[in-house]
Amino acid sequence: MSFCCQEGDLDDGESLEAVVEKVRAILGPDAWLVGQSIDSDIKWMHLEKGRDYKDIIELSKEFTTFNPKYQNYSFFSLEHEALVLMGVDLSAKGYHDPAEDAQASMELFKRFCEYGDVETKELFGIAKENLIRVRTKPSMAKRNNYNMHGICMAAFYPPACVCDDETLVADDLKEKMMAQARDREQAKIKKQ
Ligand SMILES: [Zn+2]
Repeated sequence: MSFCCQEGDLDDGESLEAVVEKVRAILGPDAWLVGQSIDSDIKWMHLEKGRDYKDIIELSKEFTTFNPKYQNYSFFSLEHEALVLMGVDLSAKGYHDPAEDAQASMELFKRFCEYGDVETKELFGIAKENLIRVRTKPSMAKRNNYNMHGICMAAFYPPACVCDDETLVADDLKEKMMAQARDREQAKIKKQ
């Protein structure tokens, strides 16, 4: 398995400030940002609503689907959406490629979410059914035990967090996840 960041990869890289300036130059108060879980990207790039962008289209919300079998809402990873709906395997390279994520996000948005007509709206409904029907592959974070080269990848799965960073999961959901993890641990102990 290879990772995106290896020694030497960033030798010819530009500073964060320089890159942020470039990004801000192509954005502006009329720009819409499209992507999945982009809140954190907006934060670390210090983008400001009204100055750098008009609003965001959060794909994880767009693709959230009510699951009648479990009577709850299912959220999907960008990886699952791209694989099931477009046959694009974002994990094929074995590492996370932000440029590929961005392209897949725009493609998903254009194909399914930008609906002004009935046909696209219908297609969107079918797409959501497929997202539920196809079993999700464990996320890249999960496949790596939420830890990649010592970097905590548990932003969306608080029970596995080994750093003190804030996770990106709402408080009530976080409590549920922690309780479930405790139950699973106890069930494991009982079995032994
Ligand atoms: Zn963590």
